[in-house]
Amino acid sequence: MSVVTRFAPSPTGSLHLGAVRTAIFNFLYARQNSGKIILRIEDTDQERSTSDSLNEIISSLEWLGINWDEGPYLQSERLDIYREHAEILVDKDLAYKCFMTTEEINQLKERALRENKIYKYPGTWRNRSDHPKNAEFVIRFKTPKSKQIKFVDSLRGQINIDSSNIEDFIVLKSNGFPTYNFASVVDDAEMNVTNIIRGEDHLSNTPKQILIFEAINKKIPIFTHVSMMLGKDKTKLSKRHGAESINNFKKSGYLSISMINYLARLGWSHGNQEIFSLKEMISLFSLSNLSKSPAIFDTEKLSWVNTSHIKISDNNYLKKLLELKFYEEIDVNLAIQCAKEKSKDLNLLKESLKFCENEYADINDKLKSEIYKDNGIDLVKKFSRELKSLEKFTKESIKNLFDNFLEKNNIKLKNIASPLRIILTGSKVSPGIYEVIQILGKNLTLKRIKYFLS
Ligand code: GLU
Repeated sequence: MSVVTRFAPSPTGSLHLGAVRTAIFNFLYARQNSGKIILRIEDTDQERSTSDSLNEIISSLEWLGINWDEGPYLQSERLDIYREHAEILVDKDLAYKCFMTTEEINQLKERALRENKIYKYPGTWRNRSDHPKNAEFVIRFKTPKSKQIKFVDSLRGQINIDSSNIEDFIVLKSNGFPTYNFASVVDDAEMNVTNIIRGEDHLSNTPKQILIFEAINKKIPIFTHVSMMLGKDKTKLSKRHGAESINNFKKSGYLSISMINYLARLGWSHGNQEIFSLKEMISLFSLSNLSKSPAIFDTEKLSWVNTSHIKISDNNYLKKLLELKFYEEIDVNLAIQCAKEKSKDLNLLKESLKFCENEYADINDKLKSEIYKDNGIDLVKKFSRELKSLEKFTKESIKNLFDNFLEKNNIKLKNIASPLRIILTGSKVSPGIYEVIQILGKNLTLKRIKYFLS
């Protein structure tokens, strides 16, 4: 049977890194096995689900390049399917209608609290047939008494749970919406999901889900509960920490491949290799190499991964991402090639290429005044005369020109490079000065100097 995985986020906030990591694992596993990945939106919590969050999830996945083969399916549009399954369970006496009111439940909860006990639904309506007419009800699962629930987690091995710890849990709420556990299982069954790869925080839901799979007579998928992602201080990363939204990383200049590489590598390893292309990850990823211990999120490492990916990215690809309008005389390929070697992220790369946008560089007054220091302006004038008469315009000839110029004037490179850099780029940081001149070309270099001096 071919592999079917799914990513099933709840649209109750932005897409945070833990969820993205789960999506990546499902994506890599599906692609590796030429299977498919389904996108399912678990929006049964009507109060907390928003369309903004849904849109953000979709656009974040698109940005990451995690493309799905089916969906997005919205659970809120599949209510009939869950109701039908719930009714079948009731007919088979595997579930039942419970007419207990919220007040009654609250009373029981309060009493449990007073008696220092953990509240558990007492099965009040489990065997009753005196159903009131026109009263609201929920449908509860008839949890078998003292049954050993067994399942295998591909990472954690065989797990056995005694069903006596599990109450008769709700599968369908009085408003017709399913609970998470029920909708999730019905969908996994209906969608023929073969592998459930998700966070360890869902391990405690699995016994209930196994009971539902058995009750609806469907094959149980293979579970893999991946370790949680923690901050450096070992506390759980949560949706509440705005900074963990993937969107923030996009805004901060991270490449999508850096995010995928870093998050996939967090908890999964392939020897000591740190930098992977997407193709490599698809072919090398393995569920059995996932680690059971928590993954510690480390911004510095992520930043290093990003810098490494920027360096090896194709210049044309970077050009598209940068959305800069390069001035016509600029050697764009050389500009990106030089700047990417020195840029830590996409924003800084863009910043360092700003001087390539217009005919002339934009120079602020503070920088202008620096040029007049230490004879800078005279040196620039002299230099531009020599550059004008340079016939062959190559990296070598530019370097020779500088070498001769330094010797003749008995100065250090920085004496001429500093004012020149400001005039040519409007900044104190840029690619090397020989490269800047090459990127601009002889004509534009001279034009910028002349314009400044005029
Ligand atoms: N909707 C769940 C969540 O966002 C996913 C649960 C699952 O993958 O089964 O955590």
